[in-house]
Amino acid sequence: MTSTVRSTVPTPVSPRNPPRRRGTCPGVLAPMEVGDGFLLRVRVPAGVLPAEHARRIAALGAEHGNGLIDLSHRGNLQLRGVPARGLEPVTDALRAMGYVADDAVSEAVRNVLCAPAAGLDGTAPMDARPVARALDARLAGDAALHRLPPKFGWLVCGGGIAHLASSGTDVRFDAVDGERLRVSLGGTLAEAVPLGLCRAEEVADVASALGRAFLELRATLPEPPRRMAGLVAAVGVEPFRARLSPLLLPLPPGERVGVRGTHLMEIFGCAEPPHPDLLPGGKKEHDAWLTVAFPFGRLTCAALSALSDLTHEIRLTPWRALLLVRPAPEAAAQAAALGAILTPADRRLKLTACSGLRGCDVGTTDTHTTALAIADRAGPLLDRVRMVHVSGCAKGCAHPGAADVTLTARDGVYDVALNAKPGAASRHAGLSPDDAVACVAGLSPEELPGA
Ligand code: SF4
Repeated sequence: MTSTVRSTVPTPVSPRNPPRRRGTCPGVLAPMEVGDGFLLRVRVPAGVLPAEHARRIAALGAEHGNGLIDLSHRGNLQLRGVPARGLEPVTDALRAMGYVADDAVSEAVRNVLCAPAAGLDGTAPMDARPVARALDARLAGDAALHRLPPKFGWLVCGGGIAHLASSGTDVRFDAVDGERLRVSLGGTLAEAVPLGLCRAEEVADVASALGRAFLELRATLPEPPRRMAGLVAAVGVEPFRARLSPLLLPLPPGERVGVRGTHLMEIFGCAEPPHPDLLPGGKKEHDAWLTVAFPFGRLTCAALSALSDLTHEIRLTPWRALLLVRPAPEAAAQAAALGAILTPADRRLKLTACSGLRGCDVGTTDTHTTALAIADRAGPLLDRVRMVHVSGCAKGCAHPGAADVTLTARDGVYDVALNAKPGAASRHAGLSPDDAVACVAGLSPEELPGA
């Protein structure tokens, strides 16, 4: 691995380095205490995980954790259920593999999402991996950027089939050809406000200047926004352009600074974004990888270890799925046997659920079991809707926004609401888990306006 993240300072949880609480950003050096023990988020540079490392991480989770791993929407691996006594050996082992930064602060800002098929997809104009790695290293090493808010994110996309057009972030670098990337601020590709172009080798410098500009500009406001979209909404794009113009090249003809969503399909050379949860498989151009997703992005360490035996390299994605690079011929059959989702038509992809009772001390219901029961019993409904969300409480960690059907748990029962956020007023209140599943399975099309 080419990460330049250094790994020297052992910082297990201690009074000076307290565990993170829910709502902040966990890491290896800032484990978060949740219902099933400590959760450790492993940031993998460029999302490229050698199979040998995946096997060793799976072994760590099996030995020291509760044997479960989550795939996050930011393309990270999260080890779950690690007791306090397991933090030091897990941290040491991850450090030996190069996945631990100098300290929790420099680790927390390494939120770089890289297009998962970089270097594999012949339709992509650029291999984004070197750019993502350089950006990751700059964020870790540039102390001035360590004041960025914990969830502040970056994205590097080389385009092609597995592009990240629909992934939202704070700063985007989207390739327009093999040498240049479009720099835009806040949101998905359609939402983000373009600033200009930069050369691939200058992305880290541009990011450094942008991070400083963000910190300076937000400090001028009485209530400093924590995300780029909020800051751009407050101050506009011109202050950024004034600071960044020496580093940027002009946008292509017809595309103007500050005008959202122009030339998107020309840039990406495709008509449709990938499926939001899973790339289509089986076509010739996808033979370089096999996409395997897991319900709610959760898999066992045993499954990760078995998948590692089917490939030499795994790529992490923001779709709660893994790409197995040039997999063994039997990979699809073996992944299916491990419970993986292999097709976008799988109804389990319509379900979103937080950890609930089994992984969060606030949860009072087994959200995953409820969601899987809905997948079994509510097929016709799932064919009509975009998302059914089973939330362990009104906070809605897995999906704070509205879903077509939202089940919100409270004190062991569910309230079922339609086209609503978690905790919204519901028409079916206080249902036992079994009754809630039956309620959802029995919803009529007329009850789903807009679904
Ligand atoms: S939404 Fe789920 S994970 Fe978040 S606090 Fe509530 S029960 Fe816990």
